[in-house]
Amino acid sequence: MAREILQGIAVSAGVSIGKAFFTNRRRRSVSFEIIPPGAADSEVARLEQAASDVRENLARARDNVPAELRDHAAIINSHMMICQDPKLIRAASQRIRDHHIAAEWALDQAVEAIAAAFSAIEDPYIRERVQDVRAVAERIQARLVGRHAEPLRTPDERIVLMAHDLTPADAMGLPTVKIMSFATAEGGKTSHTGILARSLQIPAVVGVSSLEESITDGDLVIVDALRGLILVDPDEAELADYTDLKYQFENYQKSIRRQSTLPAETLDGYRIDVQANIELVEEVPQVLDGGGDGVGLYRTEYAFLNRRTSPTEEELYDEYSQLAGLLSPRRVVFRTLDVGADKMLSEQSQLEEPNPALGLRAIRFCLRHQDVFRRQLRAILRASAHGSASLLFPMISGLHELRQAKHILNEVRAELDAAGLPYDPDMPVGIMVELPSAVLISEALAQEVDFFSIGTNDLIQYSLGIDRGNKHVSYLYQPLHPAIVRSIKYVVDSAHRMGISVCVCGEVASDPYCLPILLGMQIDAISIAPQAIPGIKHILRRTNMEECKELLRDVLSASTVSTINRMVKETIYNRFPEELTFFSSMLDQDD
Ligand code: PEP
Ligand code: MG
Repeated sequence: MAREILQGIAVSAGVSIGKAFFTNRRRRSVSFEIIPPGAADSEVARLEQAASDVRENLARARDNVPAELRDHAAIINSHMMICQDPKLIRAASQRIRDHHIAAEWALDQAVEAIAAAFSAIEDPYIRERVQDVRAVAERIQARLVGRHAEPLRTPDERIVLMAHDLTPADAMGLPTVKIMSFATAEGGKTSHTGILARSLQIPAVVGVSSLEESITDGDLVIVDALRGLILVDPDEAELADYTDLKYQFENYQKSIRRQSTLPAETLDGYRIDVQANIELVEEVPQVLDGGGDGVGLYRTEYAFLNRRTSPTEEELYDEYSQLAGLLSPRRVVFRTLDVGADKMLSEQSQLEEPNPALGLRAIRFCLRHQDVFRRQLRAILRASAHGSASLLFPMISGLHELRQAKHILNEVRAELDAAGLPYDPDMPVGIMVELPSAVLISEALAQEVDFFSIGTNDLIQYSLGIDRGNKHVSYLYQPLHPAIVRSIKYVVDSAHRMGISVCVCGEVASDPYCLPILLGMQIDAISIAPQAIPGIKHILRRTNMEECKELLRDVLSASTVSTINRMVKETIYNRFPEELTFFSSMLDQDD
């Protein structure tokens, strides 16, 4: 038996076996220690040593930045300079001598003094540079207490990455070819880092209890990202079983890939579009190879993360027109910037919102920062001349917000007309339905847009009041909660009554247990992680629409999640008993 088996949430299917490596552990609070009077010199030396170690680690990280991410190396250079900045290190050393406090505490005080001075600066770009100082100080503090905050030390070795938490921005900066799989202590069923892992085809388990307590660097672990388990120090029999499962999983993936370009049509002839959710242009080949009918959701915010300044209109136009061109004649749906919550721009972290998921996120941010919004709309419109593009506004809560966004869009169109710049005047405009308020007024909203895209990741979060990234409440994050099933059905019916199409673009659509329910509602399209397309098409092509409708009728008459989950599992499992081993599901496994 393994020394320990830890339970988490499987968010990106796969199996891997390898050595654990922690990239970050929980940020411990700074120890507010007083040092003995004669210890100041050695404390200053300790601080200087830690700063110099961090500088060296940063230099190594900079040298290992892959060629395609070279632009980001400038950030590392500036962090290296902060490690030597007298305003930080000399000021902290002075505090150690003057107040006899430990280096960690002195560093904290020096950062606060810098932050206070910066807060008076008017230019927001310069003002927010204090975030870099904080980041570097945290690294030095981590070094002082002997934590691993340095980037990967053994670039030749492939590892199983462990972390307390990874933001999508962190995950984008990782050398993905070195990472077999990852596991984090934080995170929920649809947190964005998990979504990114699927895009990068890295098996991942998040929300793993006692990950940091049970595993140390170098431990042999099995990551079972089908059932959400981490086996620490497995025995011979477990290693043999999992090597076998990994092999079967990879074979299954290969076999379904061979048929993935066949149409997404049920046995009785009901056809839908299976599109992809992507974050990076680099994912397009995977979409096309996997038989995707275009991109149903391009999460444009990823190009805004990990940068010091927002991209220019020309940079965005290059990115978007390249995407439209690569996918043409297939459609690409550009979702306007959905920042906030776990995808913070540096401007937003300045706001220190107490509850960012309910804060200035997505369309709210864009309506407040119209310069960014208009720049993006111009770039998307201009790119529409190069292929088949649609526009999607996220997190619309009501008609007024939608009309404001459309009004700005019209103004941008007029600007392009005046400048003689070409764009597609008929580019369809849709909204994400992901707030309960949008569900309830979906019929009115449907009269003012060309299509709906139902974002179940957020719809579940906001309808059930469950933070999608919080593992403590992930047991309540139930995609087939009767309220969710009824909400989706209500939106599909409103859209169809008003003659517009509906796509479901949340993770639910790639869950083989949930898909038949959506099919029973007669949705027009799904948009899912590119990695999931072949498997879901394979299931869909052996499904019967009449059976889906019958299952939906039964589900709608049930009033508890556990009854629905049991009912669905029984039906689907009976149909696909073997294949389901190769899928992870958002449904609770013990119902
Ligand atoms: C959703 O909310 O379901 C969705 C697809 O968007 P995101 O996951 O980017 O919030
Ligand atoms: Mg969303």
